[in-house]
Amino acid sequence: QRKKLVVGNWKMHGGKGFIEALLAELKGRGPWPSDVAVCPPALYLPQCEQLLASTPIAWGAQDVSAHNGQGAYTGEISATMLKEFGARYAIVGHSERRSYHAENDQLVAAKAKAALAQDLTPIVCVGETRAEREAGHTEAVVQRQLGTLIRNLGARIGEVVVAYEPVWAIGTGLTASPEQAQDVHARLRQQLLAATPAAAQMRILYGGSVKPDNAAQLFAQPDIDGGLIGGAALKAADFDAICRA
Ligand code: 13P
Repeated sequence: QRKKLVVGNWKMHGGKGFIEALLAELKGRGPWPSDVAVCPPALYLPQCEQLLASTPIAWGAQDVSAHNGQGAYTGEISATMLKEFGARYAIVGHSERRSYHAENDQLVAAKAKAALAQDLTPIVCVGETRAEREAGHTEAVVQRQLGTLIRNLGARIGEVVVAYEPVWAIGTGLTASPEQAQDVHARLRQQLLAATPAAAQMRILYGGSVKPDNAAQLFAQPDIDGGLIGGAALKAADFDAICRA
């Protein structure tokens, strides 16, 4: 039985005061039946480390450099550095990074590899656009995205968390139906199972307009092992409700 994981992706939201208040309220609401983590903008990871040490809430980054250690890579943050602030996870390949920062499958795989090299758990996002779904290409798109990851990670593929985030459901209020999501999750797990028996234990999260009123139905699906939460992760009551769904 896989333990659920609920991760808040704060995106470019927050600030010292906001984060202090949000985490104080959240801490007061724990613990949860699922694993829980928050991913603030990287600048605030030290604040999260300070406020969340020895709580049930883990923290992680929203992105990580494909290069490890140190180097001449202006603006980048390495997994080595994230690790120094106690991060456990690094989201990679979010659709906003793929589209606004031109990240391709190859770069996403390199980032996941860099995270694993420092024993950070990569949360690797895949998902089709609305046009791709309407053209009937959903399966081909997510298979290609996951396939590149599998080929690049080898046996360590079993250590990643996969997040299925249909691009058309992100920030739009249009959630994939539990059946639509389960259908993709089941195919992703099949593809992972062909690569590693560890796939039976891997967590595949759903992301895209998860709210307190739809989380339970989504998480009840056999291959949905939790969620990657955007907007609703910025409200303690909503995030708490999703972590209990
Ligand atoms: P929303 O929950 O705001 O739709 O965002 C989903 C997301 O992109 C999480 O990574």
